[in-house]
Amino acid sequence: MRMLLRPEFLNGPFGDPALYIRELNSAAAMLVDCGDLSRLGTTRLLKVSRIFLSHCHIDHFFGFDLFLRAQMAVDRTTTIYGPPETSERVGGKLRGYTWNLIGDRNIELVVVDLDPKASRKRTTRFHSRSRFLPAEASEEAWDPRQPVFDAGTYQVSTAELYHRTPSLAYVIEEKLTVGVNAGVLRELGLRPAAWINALKRLFLFGGIESAMLDVTLEAGGSRSYPAAELARRLLIPRQRHKIAYATDGAASAGNRGKLVDLIRGADLFFCETCFLEEDRALADETKHFTAAFVGSVAREAGVKKLAPFHFSKRYLGRADEVIAEVSRGFGDEVVRLVPAGMKDGEEIWEEKESA
Ligand SMILES: [Zn+2]
Ligand SMILES: [Zn+2]
Repeated sequence: MRMLLRPEFLNGPFGDPALYIRELNSAAAMLVDCGDLSRLGTTRLLKVSRIFLSHCHIDHFFGFDLFLRAQMAVDRTTTIYGPPETSERVGGKLRGYTWNLIGDRNIELVVVDLDPKASRKRTTRFHSRSRFLPAEASEEAWDPRQPVFDAGTYQVSTAELYHRTPSLAYVIEEKLTVGVNAGVLRELGLRPAAWINALKRLFLFGGIESAMLDVTLEAGGSRSYPAAELARRLLIPRQRHKIAYATDGAASAGNRGKLVDLIRGADLFFCETCFLEEDRALADETKHFTAAFVGSVAREAGVKKLAPFHFSKRYLGRADEVIAEVSRGFGDEVVRLVPAGMKDGEEIWEEKESA
């Protein structure tokens, strides 16, 4: 079934994390984290209209400069979501440059600091006209169970993980849409017209049970039909895809509960897998996941495909061991992330050179 969103993890399992997601029915794209973005050219960077940051540790945020550089090509607004103090970090990046030549430009960055614990969000605007100094922030109540962003056709939700600093996991979920069975339409002798959209609206947004619809006939004229019967015969619900992304967090019971709730039933789960269980002490010290933890969380949540990333460089040359431990916990095969332009196999470990 056709996917509305196409995710591309930009780097291999040892690379600094960045997930690029293209909307296939528009020119827009989003980024989840800004680690190593060097595989994105300017054209693809310019499609990015939203960024979702897990947290601002350097390995997740240093690529923001490359993104910022590309933005100077066009006048536009980009929205950036992240944990509390993200606006401070973005402001810090912006203060690092001299902006005396862009006063006539219309480039804006809108930063939304999300605080699920306090059920609040805070929006700060940075505009080229003001040399990217922050405008006064506005703060409002926000129910963290509600989506962070709703595009109409898909929505983005979050949960806060503990990483000795707040770290946000995200799910990007397509909304229910329906297609029309053209064969049945012909069989019933019905002519497609505005009534089809009315039927879809009733099906998707409620009220179908008691509704009657005037339906156009191929033979001419119209006929009144119960909408529920038409929907049952004509409409084909499309599969809704759910993409999940989590990095970084402690392998703790608290994080497990939040993650399982957020990612339940995900079609594809990208997850930080820093350490092997044998290095549990290191994982606990730096508040990172272990491969066994990730595998069992994904299994408990009923994830369909699991793609581990953010392996500690101590396992360079031993990635198969990390993948094997994740697979044992998950009970199924896991996706091997391969950097764009490389093939699976030996190339996957070529990052040894750059690590
Ligand atoms: Zn981190
Ligand atoms: Zn990290």
